[in-house]
Amino acid sequence: MLANANNPQPKNKPNFLSRIISVLIRAAVLLLLLFIFDKLLPSISQQTQSFVMAKWQQLSLLQQELPTEDSLPSPLPKQHLTDTWGGARSQGRTHEGIDIFAPRGTPIQATTQGIVSKVGENTLGGRVVMIVGPGGAGHYYAHLEDYADIAPNDWVNAGDIVGYVGDSGNAKGTPTHVHYGIYINGSAVNPYPLLRKPES
Ligand SMILES: [Zn+2]
Repeated sequence: MLANANNPQPKNKPNFLSRIISVLIRAAVLLLLLFIFDKLLPSISQQTQSFVMAKWQQLSLLQQELPTEDSLPSPLPKQHLTDTWGGARSQGRTHEGIDIFAPRGTPIQATTQGIVSKVGENTLGGRVVMIVGPGGAGHYYAHLEDYADIAPNDWVNAGDIVGYVGDSGNAKGTPTHVHYGIYINGSAVNPYPLLRKPES
């Protein structure tokens, strides 16, 4: 738009003021951002680190080999192992794991390293723990009396305690034992051949 004599533009003053104000606003925003970054960056980088660590652990687990014959320590190393895989169960089911008997409260040890994927209850298993181990195999510990101090996404090493022997779920009232199952690509496989047998 063209300026003319009837419409002069003595606007230097407002322009100058608004520039000052906008500079001040920018400075304030910058200071605020610096303040926020200063407060948040350490925790952001910590979160990033643990996220990256967790992803790296997951990837390295998946790269590792699936359990082979006689390669896994028993969840209850002092107890006798019996191959109870495939036995008949109620409602036409078959036994998708093995039962290892031990006194109530005996600590149950993880058979592999891995990432805890479940600590909770279901109808059949009662109190159960699931750990995703090498090759992505799921290691399932059921009928627990209680859990160890673990939570989903925790890392565990072989031999770490995951829970304690009990009779929860559909084992209620039966001799206390851990039901140990291994799932590969979603299908149950017999853990018995994969477990090292105690010297006898
Ligand atoms: Zn069982």
